[in-house]
Amino acid sequence: MRRWNGWGDASVQIGLSPAGRALLKQRIGEGRTAPDYPLDKFLERLPESRLPRHPLVTADPRLRLECAHGQSLPDWIRLRGGTLAHFPDGVARPQTRQDIQALLAYAADHNAGVIPYGGGTSVAGHLEIHETDRPVLTIALGGLNRLIGIDENNLLATFEAGILGPELEKHLNSKGFTLGHYPHSFEYSTLGGWVATRSSGQQSRHYGRIEQLFAGGEIATFKGQLKLPPFPASAAGPDIRQLVLGSEGRMGILTRAIVKISPLPEVDDIYGVFFPSWDDACQAVQTLAQSQISLSMVRLSNPLETRANLALAGHQQQIKWLGRYLKLRGIDPKPACMCLIGYIGSRRQARAARNEAGSIIGRFKGITAGKRIGSAWKKNRFRSAYLRNTLWDLGYAVDTLETAVNWDKVTDTMVKIERCLEQALDSARESIVVFSHLSHVYESGSSIYTTFVFRRADSPAKTLENWRALKQAGSRAIVEAGGTISHHHGIGKDHLPYLEAEKGSIGINTLDRAFRYLDPNRQMNPGKLLPRKPQDS
Ligand SMILES: Cc1cc2nc3c(=O)[nH]c(=O)nc-3n(C[C@H](O)[C@H](O)[C@H](O)COP(=O)(O)OP(=O)(O)OC[C@H]3O[C@@H](n4cnc5c(N)ncnc54)[C@H](O)[C@@H]3O)c2cc1C
Repeated sequence: MRRWNGWGDASVQIGLSPAGRALLKQRIGEGRTAPDYPLDKFLERLPESRLPRHPLVTADPRLRLECAHGQSLPDWIRLRGGTLAHFPDGVARPQTRQDIQALLAYAADHNAGVIPYGGGTSVAGHLEIHETDRPVLTIALGGLNRLIGIDENNLLATFEAGILGPELEKHLNSKGFTLGHYPHSFEYSTLGGWVATRSSGQQSRHYGRIEQLFAGGEIATFKGQLKLPPFPASAAGPDIRQLVLGSEGRMGILTRAIVKISPLPEVDDIYGVFFPSWDDACQAVQTLAQSQISLSMVRLSNPLETRANLALAGHQQQIKWLGRYLKLRGIDPKPACMCLIGYIGSRRQARAARNEAGSIIGRFKGITAGKRIGSAWKKNRFRSAYLRNTLWDLGYAVDTLETAVNWDKVTDTMVKIERCLEQALDSARESIVVFSHLSHVYESGSSIYTTFVFRRADSPAKTLENWRALKQAGSRAIVEAGGTISHHHGIGKDHLPYLEAEKGSIGINTLDRAFRYLDPNRQMNPGKLLPRKPQDS
């Protein structure tokens, strides 16, 4: 069963290794714990629904609570601390496209805000509820989870958009195919959510981001169905699919998506590689990204993330052994950087890629430590998300910031984000643990993904205030460095103040007008992605 106030399956608990605990204690002090706000208290105090009855809509308190938040840290703080204050008035769980069109008509009749809800894994405030002057209807898409068909000839598959990652892969794998889209939230996020947030999976280097995988589909809007045919290519004007990608529920509801699929690869291996320094590692990774070598992933951790990952892995004996091995090979473990490199395809392709990548790795003094580290990472790649629960229970809050910049700015931007975060709570005399990795590399640049851990404060309000200071410091650093405010988490509410810096007011108004044609009363996910009312609108 899904946990009501944290990440994932309620029966899964993962511990923090003694080395991980020691690292946090030494750097930021003992965590501050407080009991969670109980579920029954929330359910007792939900306000009356403002929506009239409808056969597809329920005012069930538990469902209204579940749909009142995503997985952003502010959502967590409000949920765990009992300060979550706004809830949808009703939740609908449609089973068909006709149900969705009927629900939009009902929302239009009652001037209700409409929030499409996929898997609820947003980390940027996409699902927060702000409407106080009109009712809110959440449309939860979990019932639209069917496979419509696999077109083996054209390597396309059509699914209903509420399907979760594991179900989607199960259908495709049983026929020898894969979508290959594995965000860290894979277990609980949906195909529609991936498209609506421009998501990126861990093996995007080979399979592409969701933008490359989304071939077409259908969107239910207040104006009717918008159909997007899956042409292999087209010069018929701007591509409306690009407007749907990242639309964050503002255009309408994606009901079906057609995606590009690939045959399951013969080999899908990940190797661990160590470099003696960040500079060597970063140059090696840039060279790999700019080569034509076919890789499934390149994930480079900076020195502190390398140490933190190894400490969290908790296998003390193996870590000692690894340290000795690195020293023997001339690498000081302290500034060393770990890089995971994936090879995929036929045996012949994977071998050729390993050989070619090997010579680049050697050129930058890297050593390959074999498949063991990579296989362990792959096995646990979705489990590590559960650490958020563990850390919270130990009194620590954890969040991330992510951006993408060109290669000439990667190191400076990463350092700047980290410094700004480290200093953000100086006045509160709180230290922060901050580390980063590059996980999506391109010819012209890379994503930067920074994790920060800080102690919970003695009240939810103070923890939220500290989070705001951190988020603002990190986001400003990103904007000042010329990075995008999001490489793959989207805008939602939390990144909205920084969007104009990259889209400009003309860009924001262009998007606003396009959405307004489909949604004249601004009912679709109001206050997310774009300002409620952009200045020139
Ligand atoms: C632990 C963790 C790890 C994560 N790792 C990654 C990662 O590796 N890569 C990545 O890209 N993201 C990641 N995320 C962020 C999140 O999982 C993605 O943004 C994901 O794409 C959201 O999908 P969802 O189905 O949960 O959508 P939701 O969170 O339910 O919704 C997100 C937005 O999409 C809209 N939406 C959802 N479905 C539809 C639809 N059918 N039609 C129209 N609008 C819709 C919603 O209205 C909302 O605005 C992570 C999140 C967590 C908590």
